[in-house]
Amino acid sequence: MHPVVVDASSQVGWIEVVCGSMFSGKTEELIRRLRRARIARQQVEIYKPAVDARFSETDVVSHDENAIRSTPVDSAHQILLLTGGAKVVGIDEAQFFGPELVPVCQQLAADGMRVIVAGLDQDFRGEPFEPVPALMAVAEFVTKLHAICVVCGNPANHSQRISASADRVVVGAEESYEPRCRRCFRPEPQPPAPDHVDVESSASSY
Ligand SMILES: [Zn+2]
Repeated sequence: MHPVVVDASSQVGWIEVVCGSMFSGKTEELIRRLRRARIARQQVEIYKPAVDARFSETDVVSHDENAIRSTPVDSAHQILLLTGGAKVVGIDEAQFFGPELVPVCQQLAADGMRVIVAGLDQDFRGEPFEPVPALMAVAEFVTKLHAICVVCGNPANHSQRISASADRVVVGAEESYEPRCRRCFRPEPQPPAPDHVDVESSASSY
């Protein structure tokens, strides 16, 4: 069941989670929902972690450069101070906010807001990556997106690391990953697929 733009007079809030591997189109889906809310003349606010300075300080930018203006914040609690009269709150790159994002989203929804959260649900080892798994449990709606496995062409549920960094996420290093399915994924860093192409530039066609 997909969430819809609802009666703007409703005071009931809820949480939507958009999750999946890298290159699965999470940010594109977040932007699509926020644009539809704006068309419905609902006040929309968008936040992203200040650590994610990959492309622009003030825009949520997806890989197809489909940008929408956002506010960078240092912590999840800061979002509570900034939402004002917003009806719809979008949060991108949820994995960088840590566990405190869960009670923050719960509070926003309790205050009557529609909260749309996008982020990675697994790390590069294929382990659940908080806070998105906990958010999936408390959310009213969960959408799990998939990229395409660059090895075999099946739906990809994993972000395969193809560099040797020990960090859980290499910020701004999309070239260090490629999407892979369950069969082709390995928890350890691997060499790129033999026909590895620039996944980043082709992600919008997913
Ligand atoms: Zn595969």
